[in-house]
Amino acid sequence: MKKIGLVTSGGDAPGMNAAIRAVVRIACSRDLQVFGFERGWEGLLTNTFRRLTPRSVGGILHLGGTILRTSRSPEFKKREGVQKAAETLTLNNVDGLVVVGGDGSLRGALELSRETDARIVGIPATIDNDVFGTEETIGFDTAVNTAITEIDKIRDTANSHERVFIVEVMGRKRGFLALTVGLTVGAEIILVPEVKYSLENIVRTLEESSAKGKKSGIIVAAEGIGDTRKLLREIEEKTGLDVRLSISGYAQRGGHPTARSRLLANLFGNRAVELLLNKQGKRMVGLQKGRITSIELEQVCKTEKSLDLNLLRLAQTLAI
Ligand code: ADP
Repeated sequence: MKKIGLVTSGGDAPGMNAAIRAVVRIACSRDLQVFGFERGWEGLLTNTFRRLTPRSVGGILHLGGTILRTSRSPEFKKREGVQKAAETLTLNNVDGLVVVGGDGSLRGALELSRETDARIVGIPATIDNDVFGTEETIGFDTAVNTAITEIDKIRDTANSHERVFIVEVMGRKRGFLALTVGLTVGAEIILVPEVKYSLENIVRTLEESSAKGKKSGIIVAAEGIGDTRKLLREIEEKTGLDVRLSISGYAQRGGHPTARSRLLANLFGNRAVELLLNKQGKRMVGLQKGRITSIELEQVCKTEKSLDLNLLRLAQTLAI
């Protein structure tokens, strides 16, 4: 193996740059050349890349986003698109490709691995943490910390004004972020897309909270639970409480990666290059039981990661 490609795809996540740096430096230390394809799968569709060297990835370890940029590519979702990307790898004599991204990008990586002889290895990076085969994805810890910094501040004003706040965090389909954030800010209520909520239960919990002398209430809701504005009106109507809504926006996706996200990026990057050097492909690196492992991409794509509902129950107990 002489040349490998590297691409970041889908939603960006803090720590993607740390992963780029790790892959490039480990690869170069093993005498591999690295081609960085730009703007996600688009770079493979248009043959747009730049040579990455240990020096060209200097000064990026601590930066959010991705220097290779990223995109969502409808063309790549079609078989012809995947075949075109495979041709780009052949054209450039690229024998291995590291794909850094979320579940969609990893699905794309699996499709590409079926159309090329180049070995494909995935690195899970998404703030959603919704990838099977790894306990944690690059960027998740950073997004959790960004959200809790914001919600701790909201708690201050919620206490002063004796208000209830609904804080909406990212997570259209899955509630990993909302659950961890809710648990770590001591939310009175956590709403995730995986569990249909009951207005009666929410109202009862808030009324009990207030009767127990709690001065404020924090409801952490994943965006996928439905219309939080409507929920706010319904809670106000039923309880007479003063309820406010705060939607945590795109800031959750950016910012300097935490130590944890950087560490995962380094360890995942190292293992990804090792796999390629050992002539292994169609795999994704991951964290399982605290160890760096790898798993078949096929398995990753066909299995849904489950949300630990025990944590939801724990959060409820802790909020008494
Ligand atoms: P993320 O990687 O953050 O989950 P997306 O779900 O948007 O982001 O996926 C990123 C890109 O991966 C998509 O724009 C598309 O090009 C590609 N992709 C997603 N699903 C598939 C699929 N089933 N087959 C081929 N490519 C896919």
